[in-house]
Amino acid sequence: MEQKLNSLQTEALEKVKAATNLKELNDVRVAYLGKKGPITEVLRGMGKLSAEERPKMGALVNVIRESITEEITKKQQALEEEAVLKQLEAEKIDVTLPGRPARTGSKHPLTKIIEEIEDLFIGMGYKIAEGPEVEQDYYNFEALNLPKGHPARDMQDSFYITEDILMRTHTSPVQARTMEKHEGKGPVKIICPGKVYRRDNDDATHSHQFTQIEGLVIDENITMGDLKGTLEVFAKRMFGQDREIRLRPSFFPFTEPSVEMDISCKICGGDGCRVCKQTGWIEILGAGMVHPNVLEMAGFDSKKYTGFAFGMGPERIAMLKYGIDDIRHFYTNDIRFLQQFSVQE
Ligand SMILES: [Zn+2]
Repeated sequence: MEQKLNSLQTEALEKVKAATNLKELNDVRVAYLGKKGPITEVLRGMGKLSAEERPKMGALVNVIRESITEEITKKQQALEEEAVLKQLEAEKIDVTLPGRPARTGSKHPLTKIIEEIEDLFIGMGYKIAEGPEVEQDYYNFEALNLPKGHPARDMQDSFYITEDILMRTHTSPVQARTMEKHEGKGPVKIICPGKVYRRDNDDATHSHQFTQIEGLVIDENITMGDLKGTLEVFAKRMFGQDREIRLRPSFFPFTEPSVEMDISCKICGGDGCRVCKQTGWIEILGAGMVHPNVLEMAGFDSKKYTGFAFGMGPERIAMLKYGIDDIRHFYTNDIRFLQQFSVQE
């Protein structure tokens, strides 16, 4: 019996040694130390032994059990440590690897231009005014000296929603609304940036939706000189101190007199090139002294108050400033186009 126990011990210890994971080790434990295991079997047979031999055998069984249990515990610790090391190895982070750059968005070129123009005029004491894009015919046309039937409000150009509601065709209705809120009292000094809508076939220079920024100043003793000075500051800050400006007479129903402002062409320096159509000048915006009818419609005394207004297209300014050749780039959202502006913050 002693011999049998000794060989069982050797067998068990070899299997403990050979176990490669915790499950295998547990199988060995159940097989040798469990209730149905060979050692329990031996103990059951102890009844047949003599009174002399019994305590001797009992002690031997205990020694063997303890030695197997001890080896299993040691092996278990070793396997657990190994598992932790394996996991650490698998989850190791190589801090020497170069990082993957996070892709960040950037401001749309049009937003950049609009913000630049806003900042420029805020610096001159202007406030920003906004209004609805779905507008009443009254504010879009009538209050701006464009009564019903006026040839300048060509039906073809407007998106009408009902007889009296349309998508605003310019940001001028914001001026009309702001003047109305002032209830005949100056001063008014605002710029109105925003989207406008026209029924136009889209091509390289036309779009059915674009942006405008208009400015309006009303106070006592405002003159054409104030308008010219303001536009000159704007043009030089926006396009460079070496730009010249010139005002050409023009016509708008809401201003009298009306002008268009050109800046000298930077590309050819005035000699004439493709961009300036060989004239040496590039048209930038329209402006003029607020028509007395517009002042009176909004409740201002046109004998006491005068004012000037101007309006420009940020698309056109962005195209000139960044050399963009097609207005459709602004809304087709080609990431390759937009990414070019991400470094210019
Ligand atoms: Zn030129």
